[in-house]
Amino acid sequence: MTFENLNLIEPILKALKTEGYSQPTPIQEKSIPLILQKRDILGCAQTGTGKTAAFSIPILQLLSENKVQQDRAPRRIRAMILTPTRELALQIADSLTSYGKHTGLKHTVIFGGVSQRAQTDALRAGVDILVATPGRLLDLMAQKYVHLNNIEMFVLDEADRMLDMGFVNDVRKVLKVLPEKKQSLFFSATMAPEIMKLADTILVNPAKVEV
Ligand code: AMP
Repeated sequence: MTFENLNLIEPILKALKTEGYSQPTPIQEKSIPLILQKRDILGCAQTGTGKTAAFSIPILQLLSENKVQQDRAPRRIRAMILTPTRELALQIADSLTSYGKHTGLKHTVIFGGVSQRAQTDALRAGVDILVATPGRLLDLMAQKYVHLNNIEMFVLDEADRMLDMGFVNDVRKVLKVLPEKKQSLFFSATMAPEIMKLADTILVNPAKVEV
């Protein structure tokens, strides 16, 4: 199996070559085709399996294939990845920078514990993809720096850690403002009952992917 076999677009294949990725990992091989078919995903995968690329690559591809008219209006956020920690958020943003460098798509990352100024400047300039941790996201939503009404794709990353860290109510608050019609991707290293319960409230007829 190669990335070419997964029908990826040239700008992404080129970036993956630069990264030195010769073939997709199992989670990528299973998830990428399903995400490109616009399915919701219930993914059981640990960090280290290539999970970040498994959702980042098809997000970049779907948003590239369906570019919205930009005109001079600022970009609207079309995809959001919610993740529990600053470290994970930064890693995901780095991945989007690498895999998306030839797509023309823009992204930024927001997390707590630092001044919000640079983050709000980036949001004001407009992004296609937002990577966020829950607390700072709710904070910037309350201040009207983040508008999620154009979200087409939503990722909940590391759902089990999200629950362990006590973010479940924050996650639910975010879910409430997302448009009903969207593609949702849910990833967790474990699938305990309360995680399945949260997944059930988010996903519609999900494809289950396990590695
Ligand atoms: P993750 O599980 O998303 O944290 O990724 C773990 C590491 O694997 C990261 O350093 C990625 O850059 C790397 N990686 C992801 N996909 C591939 C691939 N197809 N080939 C080689 N390395 C990869």
